[in-house]
Amino acid sequence: MQPPLTVSPTQTMRSRGTTPMPPNLQTSPADKPYRFVSLPDRAKKQPVTAGQECFDHQRYTGILSLTLNVETATLVASGIIALGTDVGLKEPLVKTAIQRDRQLLIPGSSLKGVVRSAFEAITASCLGLPQAKTTSKKTLHVASELAKCGAVKVSPEQTLQDKRNSRLCPACRVFGTMGWQGLACFSEAVGTGQVTTSYMPTLKSPQPAYQAYDNGQQQVTGRKFYVSTTETVPENKKNIPTQTAKPGYQFKTSLRVTNLSEQEIGALLLALGLENLDQPWKLRLGSGKPVGFGNLTVQVTEWTALAGEGSPSQTVIDRYRTYAQQPGSLTGEGLRQFQQRCMAAAKQSNYVLGPQLQQLTHILTETNYQPKEQY
Ligand SMILES: [Zn+2]
Repeated sequence: MQPPLTVSPTQTMRSRGTTPMPPNLQTSPADKPYRFVSLPDRAKKQPVTAGQECFDHQRYTGILSLTLNVETATLVASGIIALGTDVGLKEPLVKTAIQRDRQLLIPGSSLKGVVRSAFEAITASCLGLPQAKTTSKKTLHVASELAKCGAVKVSPEQTLQDKRNSRLCPACRVFGTMGWQGLACFSEAVGTGQVTTSYMPTLKSPQPAYQAYDNGQQQVTGRKFYVSTTETVPENKKNIPTQTAKPGYQFKTSLRVTNLSEQEIGALLLALGLENLDQPWKLRLGSGKPVGFGNLTVQVTEWTALAGEGSPSQTVIDRYRTYAQQPGSLTGEGLRQFQQRCMAAAKQSNYVLGPQLQQLTHILTETNYQPKEQY
């Protein structure tokens, strides 16, 4: 739970004035800051062939080095309110970001959540919830074909083969589920650049009873994504001072993958928004998405292969037997072709669903959406 935010007297009056207002359920869906990606008919669940425990040389194991470019003010909140002087800012009190040595950090788990959502939406993956309660009387349902992948039972008798025989959807196989360790892992993203203050409006609670969540047949409409924006709402010093990264700020991180197929790497790259390498879509991350905060684009700067393309070694043992053998790596044009080939494989095989990819691309590259303070 976040501690209560201490604010100036004017802000206190302002929030007292707005909080008791009933949520506006009448806003037109087109005015809302989010859209839906339609659900596929069924989740495509298949047995898994190789997990973390071995190297499959028909598959890809390695590290994608990533740069995240901040496109609008971004905050991954620490939950702590600090004196401005303690974090090098002028305001008396500031809502702080996760940080180390005056640079902002994004936990690997936060990145994974954002990328997994996109990956789930563009592949035939399961839904985490069997149903969604919208009011005390009403519940929205999810087709049973999209039910959450069954947890892989943890029992002393269970063999690795039993685990592999469990049928998992694309997202659960790559990112993990109960009893199955995922095959893609983000490291902490470390920022470089100038950290500055932004003024973030107070957000209202979610409104699960809002009509647009119901597709008209008491079923969930789809997966919800906030529309990308080119700017935040106008700065207003009456809003909450927050410690943010602004456009131009960069984060560096890496994505380690184990035993992924070409299609799976391709789907991961597409989920990072790289279908058009020259104009990536904007991932939405951190606080204040409805008011335009947290737009980031991703760029892959290097692929370091431990197995699969780019890797000189035939077996893992070789890498431990000699100092001379280094993992292979791809940059520049070679890297570009590698990404394009993997993404094409993911699309051509229908591992990535065309209509859903198109819908999400539209949501995350829409540039004329103007965020508002109130909806
Ligand atoms: Zn699943």
